[in-house]
Amino acid sequence: MSDSDAYRICHRDGVGRCLVAARDLEPLDVILEDTPAAVGPEEFSYENGVCVACYRQIDAAASFQCDECGFELLCSVECAKSAVHVENECAILKTLKASSLPQPTSLLPCLLCIRILLLQVRQNT
Ligand SMILES: [Zn+2]
Ligand SMILES: [Zn+2]
Repeated sequence: MSDSDAYRICHRDGVGRCLVAARDLEPLDVILEDTPAAVGPEEFSYENGVCVACYRQIDAAASFQCDECGFELLCSVECAKSAVHVENECAILKTLKASSLPQPTSLLPCLLCIRILLLQVRQNT
């Protein structure tokens, strides 16, 4: 992270390292953009299922089931084969037999946690 025209990185006693506005900021000004370390479906996705790979809303009755893990909240074969699913929760869900769980939506809040934990495991290996 480096300084921009919107902010400065500084150190303040009692606070530590922080960002301080370098100019007057207007509502909705973009002052910082970054790539998230992990992305997953939000908790509010329960009622209207979302594809756990591309995050499009899908009709749970028309969702696609992964051949490997049996998880049903995917919109297509492309999403079932996508890196975000295959390299994260697919192997874990396969061991849990996800298709035998009562509701696939009950796993949604767990997916982001799984992805974050796997990120930590990968960084430590
Ligand atoms: Zn999808
Ligand atoms: Zn899978």
